[in-house]
Amino acid sequence: AGPGLKVISTMSVGFDHLALEEIKKRGIRVGYTPDVLTDATAELSVALLLAVCRRLPEAVEQVKNGGWTTWKPLWMCGYGLSDSTVGIIGLGRIGQAVAHRLKPFGVKKFLYTGSCPKPESAAEFEAEFVPLTRLAEESDFVVVTCALTPATQGMCNKDFFSRMKKTSVFINTSRGAVVNQEDLYDALAHGQIAAAGLDVTTPEPLPTDHPLLSLKNCVILPHIGSATYATRSTMAVLAANNLLAGLQGEPMPHELLL
Ligand code: NDP
Repeated sequence: AGPGLKVISTMSVGFDHLALEEIKKRGIRVGYTPDVLTDATAELSVALLLAVCRRLPEAVEQVKNGGWTTWKPLWMCGYGLSDSTVGIIGLGRIGQAVAHRLKPFGVKKFLYTGSCPKPESAAEFEAEFVPLTRLAEESDFVVVTCALTPATQGMCNKDFFSRMKKTSVFINTSRGAVVNQEDLYDALAHGQIAAAGLDVTTPEPLPTDHPLLSLKNCVILPHIGSATYATRSTMAVLAANNLLAGLQGEPMPHELLL
């Protein structure tokens, strides 16, 4: 847009795609859309978790391809949430909304990580603040809902996956770059972890011949976290209002303070 650029409005809560240093240097204002997409993204995170742990895409495929024959005790078995330990990486707006939705499933214990403990956010779930290594070791379900920052980039790597239980499930609905995808592939292919569900990948779209797509225990969605009609409509209006307020030199409904 050149030197005339005054305002950027992103229709997202994530802002890792913006060159913040340069934006700050040029005095450009930025609007974004927090809060309004929290429920939809949390709902999708739970949907993905259940689809992965109960192997829904695989099971649907079995019905279609004739794999469904006589009843067998262990056929299509997965893992349930009852009595489980759930580890949330990043107990922010979406992380808390995920925990709120998972609690009624009978989760026994919530763990979380972040830059510092958040007793107020954690109170509803009696969630315990732990180091990332302990979260990996003790969680039956790991859900990644943190922002992508230099500190979180590649955080879920070989070391992280090697600490997870063989029976544990990994879900990422934050940003693809939080995960080292080669390390995730190895962990899934070698049975180091049970399964994974990703709504976000690197790159996006993921090439259709990507190795992760060859794995039965990996479910990948095309970044649809906030994709409900109502949420996208609210996000669009908020993004437009941010832009107009920015251009008129007024306070934005949601300005990213740099
Ligand atoms: P918030 O700002 O409310 O939460 C972000 C969380 O990230 C905070 O709790 C923060 O914890 C945590 N975090 C930051 N650094 C670290 C770290 N080093 N280790 C662990 N946690 C860390 O944002 P939202 O909940 O609204 O959104 C979270 C992210 O979800 C967005 O940034 C976006 O990337 C993604 N998203 C994905 C969507 C999708 O379609 N799949 C839709 C919407 C959002 P602390 O405060 O302790 O630093």
